[in-house]
Amino acid sequence: MDTYNNILIAVDLSEEARMVTRKALVLASFYQANIYLIHVIEPVGLNSPYELSPGLPDNMQSLLEDRANNFMDNLVKEFELSEARKIVSLGSIKQQIFQSTRDNNIDLIVVGTHGRHGIAILLGSTATSVLHGTPCDVYAVKI
Ligand code: AMP
Repeated sequence: MDTYNNILIAVDLSEEARMVTRKALVLASFYQANIYLIHVIEPVGLNSPYELSPGLPDNMQSLLEDRANNFMDNLVKEFELSEARKIVSLGSIKQQIFQSTRDNNIDLIVVGTHGRHGIAILLGSTATSVLHGTPCDVYAVKI
């Protein structure tokens, strides 16, 4: 394959998301590709860093979802991305990224090499886990 048609940008909710998005936009413009933007919310209690914190509010899950939706809305506005190609999903980050890759015929996934996904540092970063079993090319933006 010598071109990319559909690029998926995976972002966490850190400032690095902007850096990853900017790099991906350069690629998308070069290849004239569609841009999809995804953020995955990990369910509270399912390998989530939040389960380690005592005294969590009962509505922790919905607080996290509000925060994620706000962040993604702002990113879409700031970079003038397609609202229809914004994906906020719930589940395991790797599984949801791969699911969206299949659903949208993604041929390039763009991730940062390091974000603020605290506990993942112990397990290897998201970028590393996406590389294992990826259905398409992966572009890692050095943070
Ligand atoms: P980390 O696993 O924290 O080292 O994050 C590395 C990169 O993985 C980030 O820059 C994002 O590209 C991606 N990433 C991390 N967390 C998420 C998430 N919840 N949803 C989508 N992509 C993510």
